[in-house]
Amino acid sequence: MVVVGAGAAGVRSAVALRERGYAGRVTLVGGETHRPYDRPPLSKAVLRGRGRPEEVVFDVDFAGLDIEVETGVTALGLRPGPRHLVTSRGVLAYERLVVATGADAVRLPGGEGAYVLRTLDDARRLREVLDARRDVVVIGAGWIGAEFTTAAREAGCRVTVVEAGGAPLAGALPAAVGAPMSGWYARAGAELRTGVRVTGAGAGGVTLSDGSRVRADAVVVGVGARPATGWLAGSGIALGARGEVLADAFLRASVPGVYAVGDCVSFPSARFGGRLAVHHWDNALQGAGAVAAHIAGDGAVAPYDPVPYFWSEQFGHVVQYAGQHGAGDTVVRRGVPDGAGGWSVCWLREGRMTAVLTVDRPRDLVQGRRLITAGTPVDPALAADAGVALKAAVRTAAGARS
Ligand code: FAD
Repeated sequence: MVVVGAGAAGVRSAVALRERGYAGRVTLVGGETHRPYDRPPLSKAVLRGRGRPEEVVFDVDFAGLDIEVETGVTALGLRPGPRHLVTSRGVLAYERLVVATGADAVRLPGGEGAYVLRTLDDARRLREVLDARRDVVVIGAGWIGAEFTTAAREAGCRVTVVEAGGAPLAGALPAAVGAPMSGWYARAGAELRTGVRVTGAGAGGVTLSDGSRVRADAVVVGVGARPATGWLAGSGIALGARGEVLADAFLRASVPGVYAVGDCVSFPSARFGGRLAVHHWDNALQGAGAVAAHIAGDGAVAPYDPVPYFWSEQFGHVVQYAGQHGAGDTVVRRGVPDGAGGWSVCWLREGRMTAVLTVDRPRDLVQGRRLITAGTPVDPALAADAGVALKAAVRTAAGARS
């Protein structure tokens, strides 16, 4: 058993195999030289000078679990017929292979001197920028842009955020839903410029589509990530338009004996319709559990069809999202943005909840996630009443409120 990629999905796959009693040899191959570590604390702790640096490392006794960890080893390709993995340190034979190579941060053309935030080394480089209180321009007001800006303002940097969409989190949420988050930037003392594109980035700042220029000592690019699957070219493994491994409902790739999990894969979802590519931590863990169950089990496992879950900590707020909304879903708001007690947004399709976004309302998240998972019919009027627990916003068969 060989697992390629020593991030959350790879580490969890190897551990889950052992937990399920897999007795064969397990080798975990990771391209980075660090001991396997977790990414969410990079923005929430490392950049903010919180916790000890070693706390990002996974608390796993690899030796005790008899998992061989090979760090600093890069997978270069597959020879599918004989089931050989070609690496920078030679060829590894496998019976089953789990591809868990995650994603790489997208960089902008011409922005070679710009910073990204994906790895521990990236976070350490950016921490130096913050310690020096440099003026920073952040490209993209997405999840990474927001968490980085939070840390940079805490450190006392002057921060300008440039976002092509009309509101923060434009890649994940409709502009009307993300709009209230604009105020978070202003209150933190960061300048947010929406609806404007970066046309050039280099040392000294960026130029924008409206002709203006933002001067900065450091440029941070937070415009998303792409599956790190370039090494699979020519392997026979089917890849999607963004480079993601196209897996089936059991996370099996198109080549026998190969699975894929985490940020590098997409899979069919009967629950939401179409294929899902989920770049969230919870999916890395749940998917790993599903792969281990399929490999170590007797094959009688259910298809992998999760309700995706994500959280973010930004500007003193806890933002959580569960589910998968579609463009045509009805938006139902609960609570008033910036009012006491937080606010939430639910998405409904054919009377059932497809997704919930919560800001400082963790109970809505837990209860909404259960409604989505169970496919419970929801009463929109009750769901819109922030005084009613979301779990009670259920539509009964007779149309009466429960
Ligand atoms: P990765 O974590 O990317 O791990 C893949 C590993 O494979 C990497 O170590 C990489 O070096 C290695 N690799 C790549 N190519 C090769 C190769 N050819 N050979 C060998 N090794 C290779 N998600 C949330 O839900 N909530 C959060 O709050 C949150 N915060 C985040 C904050 C930051 C700063 C970042 C970067 C991400 C955050 N995420 C968060 C996303 C979450 O961390 C990812 O979804 C998760 O790490 C995916 O795990 P993975 O194992 O699939 O990929």
